[in-house]
Amino acid sequence: RTVYVNGEYLPENEARVSVFDRGFLMADGVYEVTSVLDGKLVDFDGHAVRLDRSLSELSMRAPVTRDELLQIHRELVARNDLTDGLVYLQITRGAPADRDFAFPDPDEVPPTIVLFTQSKPGLADAPAAKTGIKVISIDDIRWGRRDIKTVQLLYPSMGKMMAKAKGCDDAWMVEDGYVTEGTSNNAYIVKDGRIVTRPKSNDILHGITRAAVLRYAAEAQMEVDERPFTLEEAKAADEAFVTSASTFVMPVVEIDGTPVGTGAPGPVAARLREIYLEESRKAAI
Ligand code: PLP
Repeated sequence: RTVYVNGEYLPENEARVSVFDRGFLMADGVYEVTSVLDGKLVDFDGHAVRLDRSLSELSMRAPVTRDELLQIHRELVARNDLTDGLVYLQITRGAPADRDFAFPDPDEVPPTIVLFTQSKPGLADAPAAKTGIKVISIDDIRWGRRDIKTVQLLYPSMGKMMAKAKGCDDAWMVEDGYVTEGTSNNAYIVKDGRIVTRPKSNDILHGITRAAVLRYAAEAQMEVDERPFTLEEAKAADEAFVTSASTFVMPVVEIDGTPVGTGAPGPVAARLREIYLEESRKAAI
């Protein structure tokens, strides 16, 4: 596989990053995951806009322009013959001479930028979309700036492991009784035909897939309420689902062992998935 590191395209086993990189030492960095369908990037602009916001919230500079970023994404897709899969992008605060809590001067220490691809044949036809996934609930003990897409992913990783230990696929995080989001996706329920999802705030990541799905739902005249919902409401809902760049719209059929609705993927999630995939393929670049 060919990867990109700080201006160079290299075989993955020749790519190098400093042991002093603050991404490695302090999780001081941000990332994006953009899906690739039929060799094209889904919602590249959305991811680029969010990346700029994450960087600016952390007083970091973008090491490349948006056009260059697009070219790098395309070059990696081409060099790796990627049809379906994803492009992972990470920008960290670089490698100062010594480990220190204070941010280094950006004029002296440039950020580190790394991109690589992951092939996922049949990404849009994941079997889980037909069966739905099972989630557990866990306390949301993450920090208070979940709107910044940082590489601090230890708690979400632990959440996935807790789910796995219970024979489930993922975890929904709960704060003050209300569902925030999934470990790597935004959470939704459907009740009496209305789609409910938590509004954007510092409590959740502002999903690029979420924005697109809410736009398509409005265009299709579906009713959407952006408001927090409780875990109890979710268990009593007609349907539940999650969205993310790598899973698109994924039905949730069980929460903490309680079947949601009929216990099978529901019509609203199925319809949104279909619309999302169709529109995303059309708009992909
Ligand atoms: N919420 C969290 C915590 C995530 O990590 C992600 C994606 O990685 C999402 C939501 C979904 O965001 P997007 O649709 O941009 O992939």
